[in-house]
Amino acid sequence: MPRLGVHLQLGHGLRRAAERAAEIGAETIQVFIDNPSAWKRRAAPPKGLAEFRARLAELDIRPVAVHASYLVNLAGPDPAFRRNSIEGLASELTAGRGYGARFVNVHTGSHRETSVEEGVERVATGVAEVLARADDAPAPESADAGAAIPTLLLENAAGGGWAVGATIPELVAVAERAASLGVPEARLGFCLDTAHAWGAGWRVDDPDAIDALLETFDSELGLQRLVMVHLNDSSSEPGSHRDRHQHVGAGQIGARGLGHLVRHPRLADRPFILETPGMDEGYDRVNLERARALRDDRPLEALGPEAFDLSRRTRSAAPSDDDVEGAA
Ligand SMILES: [Zn+2]
Repeated sequence: MPRLGVHLQLGHGLRRAAERAAEIGAETIQVFIDNPSAWKRRAAPPKGLAEFRARLAELDIRPVAVHASYLVNLAGPDPAFRRNSIEGLASELTAGRGYGARFVNVHTGSHRETSVEEGVERVATGVAEVLARADDAPAPESADAGAAIPTLLLENAAGGGWAVGATIPELVAVAERAASLGVPEARLGFCLDTAHAWGAGWRVDDPDAIDALLETFDSELGLQRLVMVHLNDSSSEPGSHRDRHQHVGAGQIGARGLGHLVRHPRLADRPFILETPGMDEGYDRVNLERARALRDDRPLEALGPEAFDLSRRTRSAAPSDDDVEGAA
């Protein structure tokens, strides 16, 4: 069985976040460790990281994933922006050790009107540099002794805004180039975001297409490298290159496809993270319950109209490509 969890806000404090995760029955979590839309990083880690890790361990909430800043773009041509992206992502890997994170997840990025080939090259060389920097950085004082550097995960893209990584061949090209630069396979994995996949035109609403997708992923990249799933429904059209997340089973992908994925025997031990709307308005609990229903093969209840009328603020409280359209 997969482990089901949510993207959790840490803004109200680490202790409260851990208790919220427990309250709603999260079995795994993803977090931002700093402001996701600014370069500026806090000077010192927040207090209470050891207690946070201990509490999560006690509650058997694992693994912990970190979602990197929205601003990071390894694929882009601008040198200053690239420098910030590499330094920023390396610092997330280092800081992630203090959170006991197993993964740091990052969007593959945008080649900004250059070319996919150049974008692929920049992502691969960027990944190699980020990992080398993380190796050189000392472990933060807040980390457990022996805490490993998290595995870097590239998340598939919806395909808008000159995206790199919206197709399997593009992900393969990045993986192969990174390998040729000496990046060990175990240090670079992949995260499948169902809403991005849908936007990119992958038919994740159709069980047969999902089986075929996992087959292809396995033969091209190795399914062991698909280590996390972002289980989001989408209110965008398939293949539209748009990425608007929707409540589980209440969007265009629907319960049939998402359920097939959650129950898929080949993804049985993966963390499935929800990045669905209204996380701060109680819909974290609602969507986690819906994901559990899919996992148990139970029918989903209809949501009331108020579920589709959330404020922009809370709709964007979880990572989504449409929040980064201005990123260079
Ligand atoms: Zn995602």
